[in-house]
Amino acid sequence: MSDFLRTPIEFLKGVGPNRADLLKTELGIFTFNDLLTYYPFRYIDKSNFTSVRETGPESPAVQIKGKIQSVRTVGQKRGARLVAKFSDNTGVIDLVWFKGIKWVKSNLKSGEEYVVYGKPSMYRSGLNIVHPEMETLEEFSKSVSGELQPVYHSTEKASNSWLNSKGIEKLMKILVDKLGNAYPETMSAELISQLRLIDKNTAVKNIHFPTNHELFQKAQLRLKFEELFFVQLGLLKMKVDHQKQIKGYIFNAIGDNFNGFYSNHLPFELTNSQKRVVKEIRADVGSGRQMNRLLQGDVGSGKTIVALLVMLIALDNNFQACLMAPTEILSNQHFEGLSELLSEMDVEVALLTGSTKKAARKLLHERLESGDLNILIGTHALLEDKVKFKNLGLVVIDEQHRFGVAQRSKLWRKNKYPPHILVMTATPIPRTLAMTFYGDLDVSVIDTLPPGRKPIKTIHKFDSNRLAVWGSVKQEIEKGRQVYIVYPLIKESEKLDYKDLMDGYESVRRDFPNQQISIVHGQLKAADKEYEMQRFVKHETQIMVATTVIEVGVNVPNASVMIIESAERFGLSQLHQLRGRVGRGAEQSYCILVTSYKLSSDGKTRMDTMVKTNDGFEISEVDLKLRGPGDIVGTQQSGMLDLKIADLVRDGEILQLARNAANVLLDEDPEMLLPKNTSILREFNRTKKRRIDWGRIS
Ligand code: ADP
Ligand code: MG
Repeated sequence: MSDFLRTPIEFLKGVGPNRADLLKTELGIFTFNDLLTYYPFRYIDKSNFTSVRETGPESPAVQIKGKIQSVRTVGQKRGARLVAKFSDNTGVIDLVWFKGIKWVKSNLKSGEEYVVYGKPSMYRSGLNIVHPEMETLEEFSKSVSGELQPVYHSTEKASNSWLNSKGIEKLMKILVDKLGNAYPETMSAELISQLRLIDKNTAVKNIHFPTNHELFQKAQLRLKFEELFFVQLGLLKMKVDHQKQIKGYIFNAIGDNFNGFYSNHLPFELTNSQKRVVKEIRADVGSGRQMNRLLQGDVGSGKTIVALLVMLIALDNNFQACLMAPTEILSNQHFEGLSELLSEMDVEVALLTGSTKKAARKLLHERLESGDLNILIGTHALLEDKVKFKNLGLVVIDEQHRFGVAQRSKLWRKNKYPPHILVMTATPIPRTLAMTFYGDLDVSVIDTLPPGRKPIKTIHKFDSNRLAVWGSVKQEIEKGRQVYIVYPLIKESEKLDYKDLMDGYESVRRDFPNQQISIVHGQLKAADKEYEMQRFVKHETQIMVATTVIEVGVNVPNASVMIIESAERFGLSQLHQLRGRVGRGAEQSYCILVTSYKLSSDGKTRMDTMVKTNDGFEISEVDLKLRGPGDIVGTQQSGMLDLKIADLVRDGEILQLARNAANVLLDEDPEMLLPKNTSILREFNRTKKRRIDWGRIS
């Protein structure tokens, strides 16, 4: 990077010691480059005015040209506010200030023409704009920018020393005028011509002060692409290096276990998605590198059979395999399911959980070490030090989000070379996030459900319709079906939630006096939980009242109704997970979302989305828009979201372009040593240094 870009910010004309301090402490701007990459977060289209008459409480932020008619202070002390009547020739709107009243009052000139910007709202019967941005028409028309005026984030403290958006804009103008060609090119000529990117200096100039709309869009594309490209290049380089370093067992034989099962015992035809995924995995485990693959597939999409087939390939190559699940119930179900599928085959399967008795455990350890056992299924108990395999070749982890990476690596240490790892998850995350957060893993997706499934019907009901809801429950139970009723459990209000659950349980008991009811919640001991679950699994009870503990994986095909109480308190992905507990049999299933009348607009969107679609990926996209990426992937990872200009919610297409480009580049030139990639390598090394620094600091 050039010396110009590294120049300390105090050397910029117009920045004295005081403002330099504020720029550093308040806005994190230390150098010219820092200021130049302090991008606007929005733009004012100066050609676009709204008249007062067209303005309503539903309007987005508007820009109005007009005059101040009168100014007065209303209310007293803490309730005091300044109200200015502002009019154009179509009507009058109030401008309101609660803060800085004195200052605003002494600066407003009545009779002067102003341009006002802000979000209108309704107060009592009149329309107003609270704390509008405003400037005189004279200032507005002679301001430094063209048609699109940049708006910058600032802080209160900085704004008080004239480093508000306008102040920053003025400094930016001074700097941009001096920029020249200070930025070295970071892209290859090849990419620039393929994607028709404009050069970096033009892009930086136009992102702050767009010459016209066309150049503005090109500037955005150039800078967003560049940012995402280097993130992807970093991730993919990590993956390439990992594959080079970490050798894996080669499973090249497809033998009696796989073939015998496939031809004689497979209970159904695989879906095309399942076939494709099995192929992808076979290529991985045959490549000589260690597989690190994430398998995403909605609830019920049939991930288990894929896992089994891959385990059989491991066996065909004289390796053992294990399958780890997050709960005892799930481990049991996997054990029973797989044992049955394998009942006519010569494969030894065992189960290991916290409840496995000491004697059985000892025998199991021996059989594992001798190699007599082929497949081990279980919970965290698999991670205990005493569990030693003779030759573990494959680890399958079901419902990955319950296992940390540390635990994964603990499994790695079980034998001489790392086994292949297949992580399965039913929590679809949007493609853009998967590319960024699992960017260094391979990802397979099962995107179709097995045939013959009746899509679950989802209905949204208000509390007041409880009778109708209970009516459907009765009908289903009479048909011999079972029903889940789920209550929220949120840490902050655990006591209240517990009370809701118990109140709910009492009323269910009153309303269904002839039915047997299971109840499961977090305050039960593990053994009691298990007992209650088992009663439901065995159909000794017809209704299961529970908090979200049933969320993961439980399989009771006879259950056909899922009622979710206070559904507005659940997130979308949780609602979708819960709904996936039903719809597992041949019968029509239902999910009933019960909410109160008072729904926030997000709450309403969540209910509407659930009613509209059963597609987990579609739901995850809506979730991403509602909550933003940080909340979806968890905050400890959101450092990766430190993007200056790109936006994972809106820039999915550019992200895909960037990933493809990075992939193509590394395929051809894994070390980036070709002359044509020199500028990319230089920028890559520079950002790598920054990445490492960042990691060290946090
Ligand atoms: P999940 O992906 O949620 O783990 P499972 O593997 O438990 O889903 O499969 C759900 C159900 O679908 C199981 O009962 C399974 O036997 C069945 N199934 C899986 N694949 C197929 C298929 N290709 N055709 C028919 N049924 C299938
Ligand atoms: Mg499963």
